[in-house]
Amino acid sequence: MERSDIEVLIIGAGPAGLGCALALKKAGIENFRILERSMVGASFEAWPREMRMITPSFHGNPFIQTDLNAVNPATSPADLFGREHPSGAQYAAYLRAVVQHYQLEVSEGVSVKQIKPQGRRFTVSTSSGEIDAGAVIWAAGEFGLPRTAVFAGAALCWHNSTIQSWAKWPGQASIVIGGYESGIDAAYHLVQAGKRVQVISKGEPWLADSADPSEALSPYTKERLVHILQAYPGQLELIGQSEVIKVARCADTFKVTLADGRTLETGSPPILATGFRSALTPVRDLFEWSGEHPVFTEEDASTLHPGLFYSGPSLVQRGSKFCFIYKFRARFGVVARAVADHLGQSVHPDLDAYAARGFMIDDLDCCVDCQCALDEADTETIEDLEVVQ
Ligand SMILES: Cc1cc2nc3c(=O)[nH]c(=O)nc-3n(C[C@H](O)[C@H](O)[C@H](O)COP(=O)(O)OP(=O)(O)OC[C@H]3O[C@@H](n4cnc5c(N)ncnc54)[C@H](O)[C@@H]3O)c2cc1C
Repeated sequence: MERSDIEVLIIGAGPAGLGCALALKKAGIENFRILERSMVGASFEAWPREMRMITPSFHGNPFIQTDLNAVNPATSPADLFGREHPSGAQYAAYLRAVVQHYQLEVSEGVSVKQIKPQGRRFTVSTSSGEIDAGAVIWAAGEFGLPRTAVFAGAALCWHNSTIQSWAKWPGQASIVIGGYESGIDAAYHLVQAGKRVQVISKGEPWLADSADPSEALSPYTKERLVHILQAYPGQLELIGQSEVIKVARCADTFKVTLADGRTLETGSPPILATGFRSALTPVRDLFEWSGEHPVFTEEDASTLHPGLFYSGPSLVQRGSKFCFIYKFRARFGVVARAVADHLGQSVHPDLDAYAARGFMIDDLDCCVDCQCALDEADTETIEDLEVVQ
């Protein structure tokens, strides 16, 4: 087993891990390493082939309006691909281009098994040995943690994150459980593939009137929803204010039972568009929790173990999740500065440019009244979810 020492260890080579790495460089910290259990941008490579980013890309960088999907102020997926809504594969290619251009050291195929705090340092056990690190940034994403145990019989369903392409999905009719972005995205592609689709949702997000894409549907998804409703009349049924309580197998069909007693049937497995669990689930014990919500310092660190930071969509500050790239990237500079502080290093003035570009927002009031407000589903305990599986 190899053992090595490093100043900062970043776990995960998605937008959060790479974005933090670039901010560390700006802060003057060069002795860091990124560990990635699979490959750079792995989550994006695993998206259903037809899926596109809902946040639009546009190269406004020179006018201090950085592309919403960029991980630093100087790059732009729109500029790279000439696409406003990149596919998962394109976004992964953008991340690989970032790694190459900035010569970031990423160890692919190395999985982190355990993080043990040792005073102000950390011993990190990985699939290729132990690493001693002065600070750790957990940026391992939510994608590998689909929220699946949501009602009795949920194991009979397929989570949308496990589907490679909607084009080959079997059957003439489909039931999608969940009516937010990924549920409507699934419905859009299934209807276009000639299927009749029923979308069941606890609320009616398609009617919500909010400018924020994490509260209501994004403009991109609203446009696509209107398109299928007009171009394929009768193929899509939106069933709002309805909760699924059970899915059961009956001979060749799947029977979906709603809380009000109604039942629906489909020949193909129902599709779960029920979101993801917190990215902190694998390191749960290293963070403080308030119910099912992680608690962070004002610099996005663990309140229990100084020097352990989190970056990514499960960040919660002021009761809101920083669930989109343009939200959590606003903290890259803050994390880099706090890491330097933890290591007792002075911060390089280059980081100031991050503040000017919205990559180092200190004022957490930016997330008040928003947006990824924590919903009821997030308050279920993991234990509750496991009981019904
Ligand atoms: C289906 C879907 C669509 C989305 N669409 C958008 C969108 O359009 N716009 C937007 O802004 N946001 C979107 N999001 C939000 C999402 O949070 C981000 O897109 C992004 O993936 C989060 O970045 P991340 O770096 O935290 O996680 P990831 O991109 O998932 O990266 C984490 C990396 O960590 C690695 N890893 C995990 N565990 C370990 C371990 N133990 N050891 C080593 N490596 C590990 C994984 O392999 C992965 O490569 C979407 C999310 C999903 C799930």
